[in-house]
Amino acid sequence: MSFKNLNLINPIVRAVTEAGYSKPTEIQASAIPHILAGSDILGCAQTGTGKTAAFAMPILQLLKRQTPEHKSIRALILTPTRELAIQIEENFKIYSKYLPLSQLSIYGGVSAGAQLSALRKRVDILVATPGRLLDLVNQRYIDLSKIEIFVLDEADRMLDMGFVNDVKKVIQMLPKKKQTLFFSATMPESIKNLSETILNNPEKVTV
Ligand code: AMP
Repeated sequence: MSFKNLNLINPIVRAVTEAGYSKPTEIQASAIPHILAGSDILGCAQTGTGKTAAFAMPILQLLKRQTPEHKSIRALILTPTRELAIQIEENFKIYSKYLPLSQLSIYGGVSAGAQLSALRKRVDILVATPGRLLDLVNQRYIDLSKIEIFVLDEADRMLDMGFVNDVKKVIQMLPKKKQTLFFSATMPESIKNLSETILNNPEKVTV
């Protein structure tokens, strides 16, 4: 199995090859075809499996297919911690090296100034922690009405950290018609129930 076999486009294959990736990991091989086909995903995968690239590469490819003139945010990745938000943004940056798409991460615990000035530029992909995202949406710095792809990352940790209401509030602000990718390291009943309320006929991917 190669990145080319997964039908990933050249600019992405080139960027990951330069980053030293020689072949897709198991979660990438199983999730990427479904994501490129437009399906919702219920993914059970730990950090360290290559999960971030499993959603980041196909998201870039889907957004690349149409690059509208409008400047609104088109993909939202919701993740529980600042460290994860920064890591995910860095991953997107590596894979989008040869694509005209831009990414930004926003998170709490730091002043919002730098994040607000970055939001004035074009942002195609926003990586966010729930609290800071809701803050900036409520203050109308961020418009979620044009989101095409939504990723809920580390859903189990999100619930453990008490973010369930924030997550639900964010989901209510997103357009009904969108592609949703749901990832969790574990699948207890509470996570299954949450996934059922937000996913539409998902493909299940487990590693
Ligand atoms: P993640 O599970 O997303 O936290 O990724 C774990 C680590 O694996 C990260 O440092 C990635 O850069 C790296 N990685 C992701 N995909 C691949 C791949 N196909 N080949 C080699 N390394 C990878």
